[in-house]
Amino acid sequence: MELWQEMLRASVDSGKDLVDRFGFEPELAEKLNALFHTRINPYYLSLIRYPGDPIWLQCVPDARELEDDGLPEDPLNEEGDSPVPSVTHRYPDRALFLATSQCSMYCRFCTRKRKVGDSGKISMKYIQSGLDYISAHPEIRDVILSGGDPLMLTDVMLEKIIAGLRAIPHVEIIRIGTKMPCVLPQRITSSLVSMLKKYHPIYVNTHFNHPWECTPEAEKACGMLADAGIPVGNQSVLMKGVNDDSDVMLELVRKLLKMRVRPYYLYQADITKGANHFRTPVSVGLEIMDKLRGHTSGLAVPYYVIDAPGGGGKIPILPQYVLGRNGNKIIMRNYQYSIYEYPDVEEEEMKLTDDKSIEKKFLRKRKSTQRKKTYKKEKQEVPVQ
Ligand SMILES: *Cc1c(COP(=O)(O)O)cnc(C)c1O
Ligand code: SF4
Repeated sequence: MELWQEMLRASVDSGKDLVDRFGFEPELAEKLNALFHTRINPYYLSLIRYPGDPIWLQCVPDARELEDDGLPEDPLNEEGDSPVPSVTHRYPDRALFLATSQCSMYCRFCTRKRKVGDSGKISMKYIQSGLDYISAHPEIRDVILSGGDPLMLTDVMLEKIIAGLRAIPHVEIIRIGTKMPCVLPQRITSSLVSMLKKYHPIYVNTHFNHPWECTPEAEKACGMLADAGIPVGNQSVLMKGVNDDSDVMLELVRKLLKMRVRPYYLYQADITKGANHFRTPVSVGLEIMDKLRGHTSGLAVPYYVIDAPGGGGKIPILPQYVLGRNGNKIIMRNYQYSIYEYPDVEEEEMKLTDDKSIEKKFLRKRKSTQRKKTYKKEKQEVPVQ
């Protein structure tokens, strides 16, 4: 057995462990564990500094998980976009491939609680139906291996799936969504990365939420992926008590860049049954974005998105930078709240005037194709070159 598998085995994962380790009432522990499984491996457990800290909140169950009756289990209507159980196909050219229901840790805020954690073994038939669907849909050029955590699979099983995808000519890129670099960095082994690099272009998106997760072990794991030519991005979830603070987020994105990980998305927490206590007002997210853009490397600034309830996909939310218009001037503010004006190009000016100078025509030529066409027509009438 590999080290990471041994570490998984040593996880806190039963109701009894919750009682022994965290002093839960036995009855509560059983109830919570039945609702959504607990799994905290010794590495992630070692990152906890005190009860209720940002690491604890992400992995130790909370009695409030039992309170959220009436909230949806599938807030993003992923089932509605699932032509076969292993695929969620919402966007035109890319699809999620849910390769396993297992995770190396069960995040208390998970939006896919309904799907992950069930111990049912994934069958080859389940995987094959996903491969068949993707292969029958030539519009899918980007496949995102997700789950659960695809790196819970053994290298052999993972390679079968990735090789299966690579054999489909229209699949241009393969992305792997995995929390391993954050929660169990020991999973990133040299044999894993040498397998992955045979199937480029491969991208990895990982999931760090707090600067305390940026340990030397995590740095090593991300470095190994990057050394194998795999660009690594990060998706964070904004959560009350974990990272709903601009200083914490600034520290996180800077640390990620240092670990060669590019912050990609910051998600507004979804309205999921059993995870409502993590939600923050959108104003908090906007404030954080306001304190990132301009204040640190643009490379460190993720997109802040709300995954639209009901399945509308990710919608980017930005602080207001355009304050208004004054005639043809756009009034804007910068990251320091200083006001600037930009004289816009007026659509009116673009109309053909009496002055048919070459210069004007040249400028117009660079506009839309529609205009380019008009220009060509006129060129025949008024030869200018
Ligand atoms: C997030 C997501 C994707 C990928 O979106 P990108 O913006 O391309 O990263 C694809 N499908 C589903 C269902 C998703 O939720
Ligand atoms: S790793 Fe992802 S899928 Fe698994 S519990 Fe955490 S958020 Fe959910």
